[in-house]
Amino acid sequence: MLSRLAILAALAFLLAGCGGGDDAQTENGHRLEVVASFFPVAEAATRVGGELARVVNLTPVGVEPHDIELTPRQVDRLEDADLVLYLGKEFQSGVEEIAERRDHGRVDLLAEVELAGGDEADHEESGPDPHFWLNPLLMVDAVDAIADALSQMAPAAEEVFRGNAQRYQDELTALDEDFERGLADCDRKEIVTSHAAFSYLAERYGLTQIAIAGVSPEAEPDADRVAALAGEIDAKGITTVFFEQLVSPEVAETLARETGAKTAVLNPLEGLSREDVDAGKDYAAVMRENLAALRDALGCR
Ligand SMILES: [Zn+2]
Repeated sequence: MLSRLAILAALAFLLAGCGGGDDAQTENGHRLEVVASFFPVAEAATRVGGELARVVNLTPVGVEPHDIELTPRQVDRLEDADLVLYLGKEFQSGVEEIAERRDHGRVDLLAEVELAGGDEADHEESGPDPHFWLNPLLMVDAVDAIADALSQMAPAAEEVFRGNAQRYQDELTALDEDFERGLADCDRKEIVTSHAAFSYLAERYGLTQIAIAGVSPEAEPDADRVAALAGEIDAKGITTVFFEQLVSPEVAETLARETGAKTAVLNPLEGLSREDVDAGKDYAAVMRENLAALRDALGCR
């Protein structure tokens, strides 16, 4: 049994080594090695790079990416990759620090998207808001930046990258249109979220975010804040307290219990769970689940 597994593993390794890359159109015929710091960036890079890039996601499945700790192997990867895609402004400061030691082949995507919408005044402790990917149109900007970077590394493949990017951007634009339509006519507009990840989404679709924790999920609320939140939920007739899969739902559950609201998942797409991956879900699929949850919570027609 063991030897059969070993043979299968060896075969898989061989296949991975020579599959797909043979007709690569990069200059030297090799796939570009791309390191992405967490899920939405990894998906975008995978879609744009297609067969011509091998994308490694630094944040493991099921792990919340804010401030991940890097293993020595991941540090090596960050140093050796052809291209590193990450977010600055202390979203993942360990990644940022090593990425910024590189003098080329790195893109801080937060610097590439138009961040006018981030609501930084919501919490005193919040700092800059990194969560641009929850507005699909800001993802479109990020995809352009990724296509630019890959094209710069492999100009011979620029047409392939631009075509791949356009196809993915068409999906993102369609997603944005679904959100606009789906949230146009609702009874309420306040969303109570687990951490303050949804400012850009709220801004785009005319919603108001009331966040339990700050821009980082570790910033847990104190008792006064929880009491104030409960008051706001009662006063505004809010029916749903959202929680997320990768962060403890404890405070959301307490709030829901105290106010008679129900809880539901609103996924900030910082990573997929093992179940999401096994079910073959991607960014757009989970965003459409978010849309359904929002429409239900807000009483949309
Ligand atoms: Zn977050």
